[in-house]
Order: sequence, then structure tokens, then C-alpha cells
Amino acid sequence: MRDEKIPVHTPECIEKLTIKTLMDRVTRTGNEWIAAYSENTKKEILLCTECSPKFCGVSSDVSCLLSTEESSVYHNHPSNKPFSSSDFTNFLYNYERIISFHACGNDGKSVFSLSNICNNDIFNKISEIEIIMQNIITGYLFCQSDPVLDYAVRHGFGLGLDKNGIAKYEYNIHNMQYDLRKNNPDVQIAQIFTVDIITLFLEIIEFHRNKNKNLDMHTVRPVVHNILNNNVNFKVCVFRTHQLNSCQKDIYESLSNFKFQMQ
Ligand SMILES: [Zn+2]
Repeated sequence: MRDEKIPVHTPECIEKLTIKTLMDRVTRTGNEWIAAYSENTKKEILLCTECSPKFCGVSSDVSCLLSTEESSVYHNHPSNKPFSSSDFTNFLYNYERIISFHACGNDGKSVFSLSNICNNDIFNKISEIEIIMQNIITGYLFCQSDPVLDYAVRHGFGLGLDKNGIAKYEYNIHNMQYDLRKNNPDVQIAQIFTVDIITLFLEIIEFHRNKNKNLDMHTVRPVVHNILNNNVNFKVCVFRTHQLNSCQKDIYESLSNFKFQMQ
């Protein structure tokens, strides 16, 4: 692990300076880097890297900052893709004081940002949502390991968080393959369906919070059933695949696993 501390003399320019410094390290080393600063002091930028182009770890200094102060976090994506589910679980779930979170593509053009982040149980559940999405996509759209569908699902996560008021999602997409196929029905369904699944999870979480009840099969089923039956995108997906019952069954199963892990 390598660590750096950059003093900041002009706090009002810290955002630009952070991106510039991050991209400078990325260009020079080809590795994944994290850059973070305190939103309260804006006095220094902390940088760290595992010296690997494939993953980024959090140094003890950065971890300490993210645990104790309201902070902004930037990191680079060699793939130039939107956020991954592990971004949410490793950062936003572990460090609830992060208020803005950014991924910058190594291409220097792709940028994905979440700001005004609210603390929410959703970040605990992101990986389960992703599993449901993978089941739907691989099982029903028959498009295993399609990079454009992967891109669409990742983008859908950001759009879903924004739509539900969990964070403000801003993006600058530079991806030729995605641009060429973004209006294709499979890509549209993957993206819109991700947004719907996030909305669905939030409705369930909220429903149980309001009722002050633990999640169990008796309470989850009617809610899920009601939401799925009224979900236009779900119907489109089902219509395309003609597998209503097994598709519903898979989602019910995923949701029943989900409820056991929720206290
Ligand atoms: Zn990332």
C-alpha cells in the first residue's frame, strides 16, 4: 500500500485539484487509486493505492478520514464503466459519512458521481439486488457476460439511487459500444429493470420500517406480489421471455433469501 498527503492551499478548488492529482497518478502508474478529503476542513488530499491496476484498497489514513469526517471520495475505473456493486458495499455501506462519491474513467472523459448521499439500508442490499439482476439477465435475456448489459445494469444502479432520492447521480458517458446499443430493447430492459428492482427493495425496506416489523415470508410476499403485478417493466420482461412463473419464482426466492439477512 502506498500513501500520499497533498496539502491544499486553495480549498475552493479542492474538487478540481483532487481529480487532477488522481488522474496524474493514474496516468503515471496505470494503477487504481483513491483520493479523499474532508468536506469540513478541505485542507489536504489523501491518496492511496495497492499498486495494482485491478483493485484498490483503503489505507489506514484514508479509512480513518472516512470513518470520522464527512468526506468526498474519488477513484479511477480502468474499465471506464459506471459504479460497481462492490463500490457501494466497500465504500458507501462501510463509511456512512461519505457525502459524495466519484468514479473517473482512465480514459479521462468518463465520470460518474453520487452526491447528497443519504444513509440508507439500500447499500447493505446492493449485492443482493445485483444477484437478482444477474439471474434475470442471464436467465431471461440470455445474454451472459455481455459488456453492454453490464454497463446498462451499472448505470441503472445510479439512476435507481437518484430516482429514489438516495443520492444525486451525475454522469458523463463515453462508451461507443453502449452508445450504439443503448436504445436496443434488451439494454433498455436491463437498465430500467435495475431501477425498478432498487425501487422495489426500497419500498419493502420502507414498508417494514413503517410497520415496525421484521421481514418474514408472510409480510414480504403480498408486498412483492403487488409491486411485481403492477410493474410495467416486469411485464415487458415477462412478455419477451414467456416465463412468467419461473421468473416470478426466482425473484421470490431471491427476496426470501434477502429477508433472512435483514434484522
Ligand atoms: Zn469503483
